[in-house]
Amino acid sequence: MELNDGRYKIGGVDILELGTTYDLPLYVYDLAKMQHQYEQLVNAFEGINLKVLYACKALTNQSILGFFKSLGSGLDTVSIQEVQLGLKAGFLPEDIVFTPNCVSFEEIQQAVKLGVKINIDNISILEQFGNTYGSSVPICLRINPHIFAGGNPKISVGHIDSKFGISVYQMRHVERVVHSSKIQVEGLHMHTGSDILDVDVFLRGSDILLETAKQFPHLKTIDFGSGFKVPYKPNDRYTDIKELGQKLGKRFKDFCKEYGKELTMMFEPGKYLVSEAGYFLVKTNVIKQTTATVFAGVDSGMNHLIRPMLYDAYHHIINASNPTGIERFYTIVGYICETDTFGWDRKLKEVREGDVLVFKNAGAYAYSMSSNYNSRYRPAEVALYKGAAKLIRKRETIEDLLQGQIQIDF
Ligand SMILES: *Cc1c(COP(=O)(O)O)cnc(C)c1O
Repeated sequence: MELNDGRYKIGGVDILELGTTYDLPLYVYDLAKMQHQYEQLVNAFEGINLKVLYACKALTNQSILGFFKSLGSGLDTVSIQEVQLGLKAGFLPEDIVFTPNCVSFEEIQQAVKLGVKINIDNISILEQFGNTYGSSVPICLRINPHIFAGGNPKISVGHIDSKFGISVYQMRHVERVVHSSKIQVEGLHMHTGSDILDVDVFLRGSDILLETAKQFPHLKTIDFGSGFKVPYKPNDRYTDIKELGQKLGKRFKDFCKEYGKELTMMFEPGKYLVSEAGYFLVKTNVIKQTTATVFAGVDSGMNHLIRPMLYDAYHHIINASNPTGIERFYTIVGYICETDTFGWDRKLKEVREGDVLVFKNAGAYAYSMSSNYNSRYRPAEVALYKGAAKLIRKRETIEDLLQGQIQIDF
């Protein structure tokens, strides 16, 4: 997002014009930024056999999935519905990894039928899988290396507090099941959490994964998951992908040498690929001065961007309509009838009723976590590609709210 001749633009496209053309509220995605992130990750691991899987739960629009496919990305999915969306967007089954948690064995069987790669994250499912498929369907195992990462990263090996993955301490049991059912383990995987800032914390988990990998002689892939931290606030720190590429790249190469085989390294980022590419545009409905603060009430709410209320997430907010105004303090709130705050005590260029506010980092977990709460429509989505705006999802209408409902007679 840049300020150019007194107008805010995203990739050269005027923000206020987007609002006029497509109406507000509106999600806007800058595909050039997504591509930049993708290429930055690929370039950081030059010389390594790398496969990036876009973790599509961050943003599942078909056009976005198609764009990542065009870049050469695979797909990381966590539900059978995401698998179906990926196939519909044109991904080959072998480029889709299914990494569910606590789903039924029936759902895993559906994924096997669709031909996608299966990532197993508990021993009960592993046993059922072995009983059903034996050696006929290769699998990947999700390992929990028991590191605590994210926010204020702290290594805590030995702590058992996550529902994800199979504990590294259970490998003896895993080996027994694998051996007796002749299950082909072709991949190992970890995903330890979100917002991992420190490369060394990432490496700690990776070392445990690589150590575990020595016990599995038929591997083809090692998936290091995701959780890269992206900047949310101005001057925020974020994961240094170059440093990660150098350090983990070297360890991976050394490991492959020792293992005696060139393996494929995988990552499955969501946030890292799409968070910063997204902008959420809203209109200011009212300015309300109370005894405690000045509220700017906008034509949106946690139904469209729940992260601030759900995780106390910070989304930077800018007034696109008044770039030269004086700065004042506001509490930015939504129109949902319950406490629905986007940001307290934010310094914005003076906000007037009708002004367009822009929320940054709205690419990941914004639309994909949206709802119709308060019977509000979900906004439209627009992709900016090669200097032009393209509508990739229509704004909802009353028909969408009534879709599937059956009114009985009284
Ligand atoms: C959510 C998820 C990701 C993506 O996490 P980000 O923090 O968005 O990068 C990757 N892998 C799995 C298995 C996930 O559940």
